[in-house]
Amino acid sequence: MIFQRLVTVVGREEVAEGIFALSLESAEVANSARPGQFINVRFSETALPLLRRPFSISRVDGSSIELLFNVIGQGTRLLASKRIGDRVDVLGPLGIPFGHQGGFDTAVIVAGGLGIAPFPFHYESSFLQWFLIELYDLIIEHGHSRDSI
Ligand SMILES: Cc1cc2nc3c(=O)[nH]c(=O)nc-3n(C[C@H](O)[C@H](O)[C@H](O)COP(=O)(O)OP(=O)(O)OC[C@H]3O[C@@H](n4cnc5c(N)ncnc54)[C@H](O)[C@@H]3O)c2cc1C
Repeated sequence: MIFQRLVTVVGREEVAEGIFALSLESAEVANSARPGQFINVRFSETALPLLRRPFSISRVDGSSIELLFNVIGQGTRLLASKRIGDRVDVLGPLGIPFGHQGGFDTAVIVAGGLGIAPFPFHYESSFLQWFLIELYDLIIEHGHSRDSI
């Protein structure tokens, strides 16, 4: 089911220079979302930016969803300026969820830059053993260090 809701910012952190993690309280979207899906966000009550901007659902934590994004233009600049308690207009969840078939128990995900955004939700909601490799900085998550690979 797809919802359009005004939701509240409940968490905001600049996790690296120009890269933000923003948590939005929305039990409906959080409950409906599947890994690989995204939301379309409208951040302003004015006409500009005119169009919603898409962001992957990076994590689901209880009744909140987390976005991970970098600032590249007008919309993401506005989104990064949001503070806890501010509201944004969310449409989603949208898109076809990730699927995986087959009898494997380990998966290796390779992504570049903000391409990693949807994967925490994917591996946190799976019983598989995941290795997430972020190409630019070789970040290995899920407890695996550079030395352990
Ligand atoms: C399904 C989906 C999921 C996504 N998930 C994420 C995510 O999880 N995290 C994330 O960081 N990003 C994600 N993105 C990308 C994100 O939507 C864009 O970064 C965001 O829309 C940029 O909005 P903006 O208003 O800041 O930039 P805009 O102002 O829209 O600019 C975007 C880019 O286009 C260039 N540009 C703008 N206007 C013009 C023009 N007239 N001619 C040429 N170039 C121009 C800008 O210089 C800039 O490089 C996703 C995109 C999709 C489609």
